[in-house]
Formats: sequence, structure tokens, C-alpha cells
Amino acid sequence: MTARLIDGKALAAQMRAEVAERAAALRATGRLPTLAVILVGADPASQVYVRNKIAACEQAGMRSLHETYGAELREAELLARIHALNQDDSVHGILVQLPLPAHIHAQRVIEAISPRKDVDGFHVANAGALMVGRPGLRPCTPLGCVRMLEHIGLGDLRGRHAVVVGRSNIVGKPMAMLLLGMNATVTIAHSGTPDLAETCRRADVLVAAVGRARMIGADMIKPGAAVLDVGINRLEDGKLCGDVDFEAARELAGWITPVPGGVGPMTIAMLLSNTLQACEQLA
Ligand code: NAP
Repeated sequence: MTARLIDGKALAAQMRAEVAERAAALRATGRLPTLAVILVGADPASQVYVRNKIAACEQAGMRSLHETYGAELREAELLARIHALNQDDSVHGILVQLPLPAHIHAQRVIEAISPRKDVDGFHVANAGALMVGRPGLRPCTPLGCVRMLEHIGLGDLRGRHAVVVGRSNIVGKPMAMLLLGMNATVTIAHSGTPDLAETCRRADVLVAAVGRARMIGADMIKPGAAVLDVGINRLEDGKLCGDVDFEAARELAGWITPVPGGVGPMTIAMLLSNTLQACEQLA
């Protein structure tokens, strides 16, 4: 079998066009969806991510406020800035690019953002809402994976096994909760999981969110599975690759996402969608 490709770039473009239509409808009623993006320090990867997010906002007819601070910014100053943005009715979404410099407590910063403006979906109130199945803003990367599964006709996973490799608060755990909400039987695997290959081979839906280049090999794929590769790893030659050994896995999987061009573009589309949702709900 050669897997069918889930083209995240194309699906994200379609979703961004839908966001642009909804943004235009809001503008027509006098509301301009606005995302504030805060970058602290000069991490080159973060600078690229922030630039891409701002460009995507503008292409969708949304406003972005870009604030950059030096790495020496004090935590109290950052918190004060977030409080001001929380109070500003013209701002609907607030995103603080991670990672933050070591002297700033990232979770404290996330908790300072109003949950209604927390477009990354990392605030404990939004994490809790996801846990108990209440409405809220969902983390962008897992939400993008859900949209991909829906797109290939796997919106209801009753009777199917899903395995998520990775248990971070920003990808692995929320991904598992979303899959549970889609009626899958869910396993979360991590560095302490015994028999990882055997666990993964049970997966009808396999999500890799580890951060280790090509660690998911053919021996970990159930024939016909949908394989979603969240990993972004830079190789020595400068190229990007995922956590899945793409060439090996595509011989077995039913569906597979490429890296780049898979989950990454969906993450940005979901950020725009969350900003719009926040604007619609705040208005
Ligand atoms: P993270 O916080 O470093 O978490 C990595 C997870 O992988 C941990 O739960 C860890 O287990 C697990 N792990 C590490 N080695 C393992 C092994 N040998 N076997 C099984 N599990 C193992 O990473 P993250 O922030 O979730 O990100 C994961 C990857 O996704 C990274 O490559 C990141 O760049 C990428 N990412 C992509 C997007 C996108 O838009 N496409 C967005 C976010 C992140 P323990 O918990 O036991 O240590």
C-alpha cells in the first residue's frame, strides 16, 4: 500500500480562505479581529514563527499587533503588558511566543492572559474546559490534526484506537483529549512506555509529537493507519523532517502527513480561526 497524502498546506489554505470570509463579515459590522503577538528575546526560530503568524493574520484581513522585547525584559513588565492587552477591547487574541527566557515563568505568563483571549488554548481554564468537554479555545496544533482527520472522513473514531506519542501540555495531552472527544480509544505513549512499537502498531490513528527525527519506523505502523506527524526536526543538512520515517511509513499507512507541508500550516490556520472565535465571542 502507498499511503494517501494529507496535504496540510492545501487544507490550511482552504481554511484560511474561510477565515478571511468570516473576518470580512465581522469587519462589515465594524469589528476588526485583532491578534497581539508578543516576542521576548531574539530566538531565530521564534522570530520566523512570529513573522509567519503576523503575515497570515494580515492575509486573512485581520489586524496584528507585534510587540518585541529584549531578552532582559522583567517578568513583571511582561505581566503588566498582558494585563493592559486584557483590558483593551480592540484586542481579541493574545499570543506570547514560547519559549521565554529562563528567568520568566512561562506558565505564570500563560495564566495572566485572559482565557477569552488565550488563542493558543494553553490557559488552565481552557485546558480544563477541554478536559470536561466544555466550549473553549483549543490548542492550535492538536486542533489542526482534528481538522485533518475530519477532512479524510475520520471525524468519528468510535471503535478505533488512537495512539499519541508525546505528552506535552501543548500537543500530546490536548491531542489525546480531542481524540477522546471523537470517540477513539486513546493511548498516550511517552519516554517511559514499554514496547512502544507494539503500542503504536495497535493505532488506527497514530499521532507523533516527540521531537526526534524519524523515530517512528515501519515496525510501528499498522497497515492502513492514519499517521499524523507533528514533529519538526532540523537535520544536519538544514532540511526539516518529522518524527516519522516518511518513506518507510508511507508503504504501510493508509494516510500520512508530510513534513514540511502537513501539520505545520494547519497550526497557523487554527490560530487565525481561534482569533476569529475569540473576536466573535468577545463582541
Ligand atoms: P516536548 O515537550 O519535548 O515533548 C516531547 C514528548 O515526547 C515527551 O512527552 C517525551 O516523553 C516524549 N518522548 C521523548 N522521547 C521519546 C521516546 N524515545 N519514546 C517515546 N516518547 C518520547 O515536545 P512538544 O512541544 O510536544 O513538541 C513535539 C514535537 O512537535 C517537536 O518536534 C516540536 O517542534 C513539534 N511541534 C510542531 C508543531 C507544529 O505546528 N507542527 C507545534 C508544536 C510542536 P516524556 O514526557 O516521558 O519526557
